Amino acid sequence: MSQLGPGTGMCPRCQAAWSSAVFSSLDADTIPAQVDAILDGTFELRACTACAFEFRPEHPMLFVSHVRRLWIVMHPLTDRREYTTLEPAVEATVVHEIVMAAPLVGDRLHGVRPRLVFGQHMLTEAVRAVWAGLDTNLLEIAKLLTIRRNLPALMAYGPFELCFERFDDGNPVCAIHALPDGARLGEFALARDVFAEAVAGRSLMQQRFPALFERAYASATRYLIGTTL
Ligand SMILES: [Zn+2]
Repeated sequence: MSQLGPGTGMCPRCQAAWSSAVFSSLDADTIPAQVDAILDGTFELRACTACAFEFRPEHPMLFVSHVRRLWIVMHPLTDRREYTTLEPAVEATVVHEIVMAAPLVGDRLHGVRPRLVFGQHMLTEAVRAVWAGLDTNLLEIAKLLTIRRNLPALMAYGPFELCFERFDDGNPVCAIHALPDGARLGEFALARDVFAEAVAGRSLMQQRFPALFERAYASATRYLIGTTL
C-alpha cells in the first residue's frame, strides 16, 4: 500500500529548506502514474521556493511491485556512507515481512531479492532497468567492464558512478553522476559487446564481486568507492 509522510530537506542548489509530504512507500502495482514519473525522472519533482531550481527531494522510500517481484528501498544520497549498516537491515526486513505476512502476501514475497539504492536517480535506474528487461547483475558487471576499458576518460570526471538511462539505437547509455553529491556530469554509451563479455565472464565475476549477486546494495559503486562516500 502506498503511503505519504512528512518530508524535510534542503534545496541542493541554494540550501533553502523545504517541507512537504513525500511518499514513504509506493505500491507500483496500484499507482502506475507514479511509476511512469519514476521512469521519466519527474517523480516528486518540485521547484525550490527560493531559487526556482527543480529537484527531486531525497528521502527514504520503499518501492514495491509484487507483479514484478520487486522490493527496492531508496535512501537519500547522504546515507550511502552507511550502506554496510543499512544493507543487512533491508535484507532482514524482507525476511521479517515474509514471516509476518498473510500467506498470500508471503507467497508473493518468496524469492524476492531486496534492492537498496541511494538517490532518486538510482531508483529511476533500478526501475528503468527492470522495465527494459535488463538483468541487474549483468548491468552492474557491464558497468565495471566499461570502467575498466575506459578508465582514463572516466577518471577525468573525478569520483563518479554510472547510472543507466536509456537505449540509443540499441546501445545502453549511462549518465555519469558525481560522488557523493549525485550531480549529473555527462553520459557514456556502453559498448555493444560489453554485455556479451559480461555474460561470458559471469561466473568469474560472481567469484570476484559476490556482493553484486547476493546483497541488497547490488551496485558496482560499492567496489569503486573508497573514502569518497
Ligand atoms: Zn534553491
